[in-house]
Amino acid sequence: MPEGRHSDGPTEKCGVVGVSLDGRDASRPLYYALYALQHRGQESAGIVTHDGFQQHSHVEMGLVGDAFEPGDLDALNGATGIGHVRYPTAGSVNACCAQPFSVSFKSGSLGLSHNGNLVNTAELREELAANGHAFTSDGDTEVIAHELARNLLDADLIRAVKRTMNRIHGSYSLTIAHDDTVLGVRDPQGNRPLCIGELEDGYVLASESAAIDVLDGELVRDVRPGELVVLEDDGAGFESYQLVEMDNSAHCFFEHVYFARPDSRIDGSLVYDVRRELGRHLWAESGVETDVVLPVPDSGRAFASGYAKAAQDDGADVSFAEGLMKNRYVGRTFIMPTQDARERAVRLKLNPIRDVIEGKTVTVIDDSIVRGTTSTQLVELLTEAGAEAVHMRIGAPAIVAPCYMGIDMASREELIAAGRDTEAIREEIDADSLAYLSIDAIADALETTRADLCLGCVTGEYPYDIEGESTDREVIRPDGEDASGDAGVARSDD
Ligand code: AMP
Repeated sequence: MPEGRHSDGPTEKCGVVGVSLDGRDASRPLYYALYALQHRGQESAGIVTHDGFQQHSHVEMGLVGDAFEPGDLDALNGATGIGHVRYPTAGSVNACCAQPFSVSFKSGSLGLSHNGNLVNTAELREELAANGHAFTSDGDTEVIAHELARNLLDADLIRAVKRTMNRIHGSYSLTIAHDDTVLGVRDPQGNRPLCIGELEDGYVLASESAAIDVLDGELVRDVRPGELVVLEDDGAGFESYQLVEMDNSAHCFFEHVYFARPDSRIDGSLVYDVRRELGRHLWAESGVETDVVLPVPDSGRAFASGYAKAAQDDGADVSFAEGLMKNRYVGRTFIMPTQDARERAVRLKLNPIRDVIEGKTVTVIDDSIVRGTTSTQLVELLTEAGAEAVHMRIGAPAIVAPCYMGIDMASREELIAAGRDTEAIREEIDADSLAYLSIDAIADALETTRADLCLGCVTGEYPYDIEGESTDREVIRPDGEDASGDAGVARSDD
């Protein structure tokens, strides 16, 4: 294993967007796109635009709707820009990490939005600091910005991005504003999503295609792992440069299971269809006949409808019912600071409809179990509501290890499945039966192989090189580092 790395600094489970238009101001389309990506981050929201002469920036803590006043958008002049929503990782609520990160330097202005997490931040930061770079945050995004700014001093944009990609390791989907040029970059293994959309009068780059939909655009395609996409500054098109190529990708399967919107299309698959398909697999692998199938709203819905449909197709006498109601005004239980607060929040958030449940055997379907708080509380709630038996079916494999690639999953000690088998977990949550989905079902539903997925949280083996953890890849670094940036810079005909 090459020299060890670890994930330092806050994780960045976020949403990014970039827009280049033909004359019209980019701020409103960016704002609407951020609304569509709000589920990817609720801690802060920001937009950086460029009007051809100067950069404009507005970054605030809070939800998109709270972070911008109408006047703020009017002041963000220019037909090109980028935006960001940031996820509130417990313990890192920090105004200095809000993005886009922006900086002015000798070769112009830079804005940077990052989704993902680098695994060599500390060594890069040390090196840059030794060369006189001053840092204002402890995040990895600023490290990327300094690397890029340094490379732009003696290389053109494409070469500078390539050099930067050869230095930064880990997970990153970036939208970058270099003056009025907007770029999108996806790490060589394509861990986090990023896609390209065409608008009536321009182009957009976004974490998820749902953001393109709200702008009435058309999804063109996903940005490829290791690809740089440069939007033309008049919104007329884009250029593509395959800067780094690796044998395998490491797409995060959890994007499909939990994180992304079901109406987004990621790496060729509609998330909703994938979840339904995973539900079908769940029935095939561990179906149990009960009176009712109940989804845990909202994330378990598509899984449960796929599961119930497969059961009915097999002739099972089972109905599908929305027997749990969600109070959408309660914040996400996951980020509550204490276990007590998390348990209270589940109770506030989910309320069973007694009439649907009383006297029935039920199968409850959720996308995942992390700490086990939700499932423990649910079994209790459903039993109290009169369920005769409660069977839990989970649309993902057991989460046994942390995520270092940008999803806040909790530490190993907090994960209910770390070091425990399914029977022990069943006992802990007190369900009548419990079954997880197999890893093969995930690969199957995504029409890919395990070798092209990041499965770190369910196998404990990571596609990146992380200190103290094992890797499932032989080669984790893009090789053929070429300081001149000449080799491998190919322009495709997109
Ligand atoms: P837990 O209650 O800790 O077992 O967490 C599982 C619940 O949290 C499930 O209902 C999931 O939909 C949801 N969940 C899974 N992963 C995450 C995450 N990274 N952030 C927030 N919620 C999550």
